Amino acid sequence: MSEATHADVAIIGAGFGGLGAAIRLDRAGFDSFLIFEKANDVGGTWRDNSYPGCACDVPSHLYSYAFARNPRWSETFSGQAEIWAYLRDCVDRFRIGPRLRLDHAVHQARWDETSLQWRLSTSQGAYTARVLISATGPLSEPAIPSIPGLASFEGTMFHSARWQRDHDLTGRRVAVIGTGASAIQFVPAIQPLVGSLTLFQRTPAWVMPRRIRRITAAEHAIYQWVPGAQRAARTGLYWAREAMAVGFLHPPVNRFAQRYAERMLQRQVPDEALRAKLTPDYVMGCKRVLLSNDYWPSLAKENVEVVTEPIRELTQHGVMTADGREHEVDTIIFGTGFNVTDSPAMHRIVGRQGRALADAWAPTMRSYLGTSVTGFPNLFLLLGPNTGLGHSSVVLMIEAQLEQVIAAMRSMRRRGITAIEPTAEAQRRYNERIDAKMAGTVWMTGCQSWYLDATGRNATLWPGYVTSYRWRLRRFRTADYAVVERRIAPPHRQRDRAAPQLVNQSVKVTP
Ligand code: NAP
Repeated sequence: MSEATHADVAIIGAGFGGLGAAIRLDRAGFDSFLIFEKANDVGGTWRDNSYPGCACDVPSHLYSYAFARNPRWSETFSGQAEIWAYLRDCVDRFRIGPRLRLDHAVHQARWDETSLQWRLSTSQGAYTARVLISATGPLSEPAIPSIPGLASFEGTMFHSARWQRDHDLTGRRVAVIGTGASAIQFVPAIQPLVGSLTLFQRTPAWVMPRRIRRITAAEHAIYQWVPGAQRAARTGLYWAREAMAVGFLHPPVNRFAQRYAERMLQRQVPDEALRAKLTPDYVMGCKRVLLSNDYWPSLAKENVEVVTEPIRELTQHGVMTADGREHEVDTIIFGTGFNVTDSPAMHRIVGRQGRALADAWAPTMRSYLGTSVTGFPNLFLLLGPNTGLGHSSVVLMIEAQLEQVIAAMRSMRRRGITAIEPTAEAQRRYNERIDAKMAGTVWMTGCQSWYLDATGRNATLWPGYVTSYRWRLRRFRTADYAVVERRIAPPHRQRDRAAPQLVNQSVKVTP
């Protein structure tokens, strides 16, 4: 058997999280790391989601690394191709290329209790690492609902995150299932092309305008040459977005925004019956607020039908709804989101005592700071439980987490410690606080959303301001972590006295 290749740190995933981790580790002087990426390119969600109209609904100055500014964003909200190009550019700028292991799918990462390191089995061989950073992203595993008859449909079917670009939609009869953040971007983009578009809507979404404009040449010059100008723009956007959190954390405040959206719907959709279908019956913000100027207007076009009758099954030729009507189509596009609280990736990480994350997180995901988990030594998660945002840029959350990871690694190095994990008590206290804060938010006002898991708990979003998360993670609290050690078996339990054996690991709380 060939020997495993060792790196001090193994990073899984080469999207915003993984590349950010690589850059920060390198700058902090940790130079032994590798990035494992299952695909043959970097970019994560911005590589996978290439559907027409794909763009970010967070302003570009904020949806980019603070340590890798880009003065040349072409628009206030950039499109997928530009964000993907930015990430690839970061690889070159920060010379990350040699650390990338593309086409390396990590089948399993298992904590070895004897050698106190992670053992990774990948599609291209075995690796070991002392520290594991999982940056696979919460929105990376497309979810296709198990609708009866799925296999019987004879046309073309695909998920929005696996867009079939060689399938020309011109003149086709297209069904779209789902009305989330992805669908509201590609529906207006494909509507002018297709012959007919049947949109299957289970729950209508609240939509607000997206204030998009081109960034002028003069602005580019200012961002490029005036010191601090782009940082000032970012800071302005940061606080404007923080202000938006008020409505999520104190739901009555959102009523003003909801009225605005109602008026926009009235303007954009003159047909009363269609408007009634598109009007949500839940408080704005409970599900993700979608930003679009052309989604509602596109639904008012002649070649579009919005179907609210539940889907019963797929047939050879289309979609059958509960009222017995068959909607004949030749293409079905699933805008049905991602497996977030039940991702297969959770089965691939196995911690102490052979326990997978999926087991530790049944029935609900709990972590410490969204970044580490009791029972999983030297594992750091980027965008782990309760780190999602409804109002601002998750890149800010990743940056805060990376400071915590670097601080943890520095602390281990300084104290000569091989492995740490959060104490069960610290994790319990942290989650109690999360749940208490979550209780009063708009996300818990009674709607169904992917933010909630099967138990009804919100294990995905951060129930606060980005500022409070950054404040909480600004320093590493040694007392909240336990040192994982090997314990030598007492002599009477040793089978071979000449060669002391390592037995079960103990977890000792650091004084
Ligand atoms: P999503 O928000 O989870 O939406 C999935 C849609 O599919 C919902 O409308 C859902 O209906 C519907 N659906 C699911 N199963 C169904 C079924 N069996 N029958 C009928 N309808 C079904 O997924 P997404 O649009 O891909 O977005 C996911 C997340 O990605 C977003 O919330 C956002 O965080 C991120 N995203 C961000 C951007 C951006 O610009 N930053 C853009 C795209 C996506 P229900 O609402 O009734 O469940």
